[in-house]
Amino acid sequence: DALPALLDVNGIEVIYHHVILVLKGVSLRVPEGAVVALLGGNGAGKTTTLRAVSNLLAGERGEVTKGRIELRGERIERLSPAELVHRGVVQVMEGRHCFAHLSIEENLLTGAYTRTDGKAAIARTLEKVYAYFPRLKTRRTSQAAYTSGGEQQMCAIGRALMANPKMVLLDEPSMGLAPQIVEEVFEIVRDLNRKEGTTFLLAEQNTNMALRYADYGYILENGRVVMDGEAQALRDNEDVREFYLGMG
Ligand code: ATP
Repeated sequence: DALPALLDVNGIEVIYHHVILVLKGVSLRVPEGAVVALLGGNGAGKTTTLRAVSNLLAGERGEVTKGRIELRGERIERLSPAELVHRGVVQVMEGRHCFAHLSIEENLLTGAYTRTDGKAAIARTLEKVYAYFPRLKTRRTSQAAYTSGGEQQMCAIGRALMANPKMVLLDEPSMGLAPQIVEEVFEIVRDLNRKEGTTFLLAEQNTNMALRYADYGYILENGRVVMDGEAQALRDNEDVREFYLGMG
């Protein structure tokens, strides 16, 4: 049989406020070193799936009521978000949550708060982040509130990278950004994946863009996976072309 995936989500059910059943048995696998896309329209359950993995449901009054979530074969449903960061799993939330009143560099440094390997190591990671995001370096002293949407998205990703993650859960990176900036962000994701080996699970409504950069995709509809496959196979699929790529 195949080796355990880096992340293995098996039949999870998520309920909000004790009554609203939103995920109705979602399963997916993220192999180490892959870029996996979680696709589907508004309200399909993409954000909820990411929140379940990074254990951010409680704050939303949601809980996983069935199924298993495993990281390298170990159950992680009961680990706190901080413990997950320690194990190399970080989430970049939808809407580019940067601290508006902090500078770009201060924002990036907040991402290193769980690290215990010292200032020199953190400084090296900061330089690495700037190497991937040259725009952030030029804006390092700017207050985040006064930077562009693209720069704020880059800042949110850069901050996640400051934790030295194995896997980044990226929620809707394209949201509200001009196509050219979306492309720039995805190019950097691909670069990080290839050069650093960082694994990505990304939720996207922009199916076309996501399938150009992902290796594999899962399509969610109404809390269920309705289709999955290699990115290329999904792009060639008649139904995907008609319903998600607008090429019917
Ligand atoms: P979007 O791109 O709009 O975020 P999504 O695919 O990420 O869509 P979710 O945000 O996971 O979808 O939402 C799935 C469903 O769960 C929606 O019907 C939404 O209204 C509901 N939902 C999300 N968060 C909560 C919450 N905190 N309490 C109650 N219902 C919620």
